[in-house]
Amino acid sequence: MSTKIQTMRLQKLLLTVLITPLISVAQVHTEQTYVVDRFGQPRDHNVDMEHLFLDIAIDPYQGMVAGVANYVFHPIQQQVDTLFLDGPGIAVNAVKVDGNSARFRVDSAGVTIFFSPSLSWGSTHELNIEYTAHPKKGIYFVGWNEDTKDIATDPDRIRNQVWTQGQGTDNRFWIPSFDDVNDKLLTSLRITFDKNYRVISNGNLTDERNNSDGKTKTWVYEMAHPHANYLIMLAIGDYAYRDYTSKNGIVSRQYYYPDLEDRVEPTYAYSAEMMDWISEETGLNFPWPTYANVPVQEFLYGAMENTTATIFTDALFQDAGGQNDRSYVAVNAHELAHQWFGDYVTEWGNRDHWLQESFATHYSKKFRQSVYGEDEFQWIRRGEMRAAIAADNRDTYPLAHSLAGSSRHYPKGSFVLDMMRYVLGNEQYRKVINDYLLAHPYENVRSEDLEIQCMKSLGINMWWFFDQWVYRSGYPVYQVNTTFTSDTTTITVVQKQDSTATQHLFRMPVVFQVHYKDGGFDQETRWVEDSTTVVQIPNILKREVAFVLFDPGTQIISQVEFEKSFDAYKMQAYNAPLMIDRYDAVVAMQKVAIDDKRDILIDLYDKQNYHAIREEIIAQLANDDHKKSIALLKRALKDTDINVRRAVVTNLKTLPKKMEKDIAPMLDDSDYTNVELALRFLCEQDKEHAEKYLEHCADKYGAAKNIRIAWLEYSYANGNIIAAPAELAKYASNLYEFRTRGNAIQAINRLNICDAAIAASLVEATQSFNRRLAGPTTRVLKGFYENKLYTSIIDKAIDDAIQASGDKEKLEALRKKD
Ligand SMILES: [Zn+2]
Repeated sequence: MSTKIQTMRLQKLLLTVLITPLISVAQVHTEQTYVVDRFGQPRDHNVDMEHLFLDIAIDPYQGMVAGVANYVFHPIQQQVDTLFLDGPGIAVNAVKVDGNSARFRVDSAGVTIFFSPSLSWGSTHELNIEYTAHPKKGIYFVGWNEDTKDIATDPDRIRNQVWTQGQGTDNRFWIPSFDDVNDKLLTSLRITFDKNYRVISNGNLTDERNNSDGKTKTWVYEMAHPHANYLIMLAIGDYAYRDYTSKNGIVSRQYYYPDLEDRVEPTYAYSAEMMDWISEETGLNFPWPTYANVPVQEFLYGAMENTTATIFTDALFQDAGGQNDRSYVAVNAHELAHQWFGDYVTEWGNRDHWLQESFATHYSKKFRQSVYGEDEFQWIRRGEMRAAIAADNRDTYPLAHSLAGSSRHYPKGSFVLDMMRYVLGNEQYRKVINDYLLAHPYENVRSEDLEIQCMKSLGINMWWFFDQWVYRSGYPVYQVNTTFTSDTTTITVVQKQDSTATQHLFRMPVVFQVHYKDGGFDQETRWVEDSTTVVQIPNILKREVAFVLFDPGTQIISQVEFEKSFDAYKMQAYNAPLMIDRYDAVVAMQKVAIDDKRDILIDLYDKQNYHAIREEIIAQLANDDHKKSIALLKRALKDTDINVRRAVVTNLKTLPKKMEKDIAPMLDDSDYTNVELALRFLCEQDKEHAEKYLEHCADKYGAAKNIRIAWLEYSYANGNIIAAPAELAKYASNLYEFRTRGNAIQAINRLNICDAAIAASLVEATQSFNRRLAGPTTRVLKGFYENKLYTSIIDKAIDDAIQASGDKEKLEALRKKD
């Protein structure tokens, strides 16, 4: 399509214009007020750990880790007489230093080892710590006490797994360690476990052998380069794997559940491509010898970039029907990018956390741009900007701050890197990043290292950029006005944001475009840095102006107040070169009366194929009962894009006459969420045919039973009052993974049904380490407890749980009002 060609031309223009010499910093930052960061700095340490040889056995039924942590280290201070290692709750049985028993003291935070005589720098030593732990954090034991043999073929059953999550500082619960980011070490893990499972850890598998007991096996994994303590990992379960080899010669081992092999291809799509792409983009080949992805259940996050072995939630391990909402591609690329940004170069302390998350988010986005195209890229950026602005409206933490929060560390920082690329130019940005990576191999980095690298690599002082986007918070609010004469377009920009201790006037190069009715345009790039900037663009051919764009493509995180005429928006919606500017013009039409815009929106729907624009058009026309709008909705239900089809059912407030026949085919949609939405919508809106819809969906299950659970809810409402609640109760129990449980528990809540079995399952779920299960379930349980019908059932379930030696205090709290 023509849009693509125009886009490329525009990008070229942007590049040539932006590589202008930096003009002097006219804007004076009179004060350097930074938000105090008490948690942002790393701790002192008096020894340098060189190598950890961890030799452990794991009993998953008891939730126990036992073994020896062997360290090779050398003192880095003149005299060292004690060493403290984190290890809360770890029982230390014996400590040896250089082969001799050493005195030690255990407290609630860890173990202190006393050296007698004291050690001096320049020497190397060995330390062995024999220990046992029953960790509540850091290592998680899933499913070992549940018997799932009756549902052995159910894809959503709970599985027997052990996995770890070290970040922030949780590996200390199962390994006595200096658990901070800035003492990198080599690690070798030797793990003994039931031979019927597979054990996965960091680095190369260098040994795997059966033990003489006939029951267990021992696996040895070794790292070739040092990494940070929080990146040490373990994953154990019933796994098969498939190897993907990328062009750069790296083998990525993609693990999967043997009974769900059909999910391998959709889940690991583009895995080899992203390995090559990030290597090429950063100019540094993948910095480790191997790589792996491991799906696990009950995971606390989306994924974790353990060095050479990413763990991810199996919510993203999906077949084709679950790909639209639960694709692994973006997260896969994010975690892979962390192998460079986070694992190879690592933050100094929490203050520089953005150097990990923002980079991983940025490179995942850039990879998706290379695969899915420019429109998708602009749409992701729009989401990032919304999140950044919302964060800056909430508080004033800068990006480089330990309390900046995930909206800044991920989306805002990713966009800030886009802006850095925009200001420096693509190739110069890439040179800086390549030099930065090469300058700090397997080391720790601070924000200043990146800032200074711009000066070292390019001779460009980016202090002002880092000051406004990294060390301070906020965003510019630009008010834009235009006036026209026959030969000049005058654009006035006022920076309206408050000037505060943490936010000043912003300084950025901005593109101004004047588009003419003959299809051509003029463009200028100017530094906008004063409170008022006036830009005059000569109109030499005296053409008629169609519309003006300020910062086309939204290169800058900003809020822009720029009122235009309906005619201008119309022409912008058809003709702006970049999708996001066309989208913004359609959004601006929300204020226009339906009769004035109906025909235009319907015409635009056919001319704009990106889903976000079509969704916006559907949102504006969905509740218009004009036959032209209804005809468009009917066509939209057959759109090739899942999101566009979905927009019809999510925007309709009621079912327009005779449209049930058009919506019913969505019960066979390729996407599981669409099937569920259609089933719920039709059962609500067309009650008299509910039985027919239910019958049609009687064999559909979806992802984490999303379709089945909706089916059970409406089936119950249609008289299935015995079997439906029993099946919901089963899905709510600990025989199932947590998303299935969560879906069932929410349905049970909506239906307001509770019995002894349900109450027991709810109480059990509130005690899960997985707060994404425990949190919502606690709210449901407390709601039921208020209901006099259920109080005694729940009291009994709580008493039983306390009897079964649960956490009395936590369980008693369930009886209390919030
Ligand atoms: Zn991340």
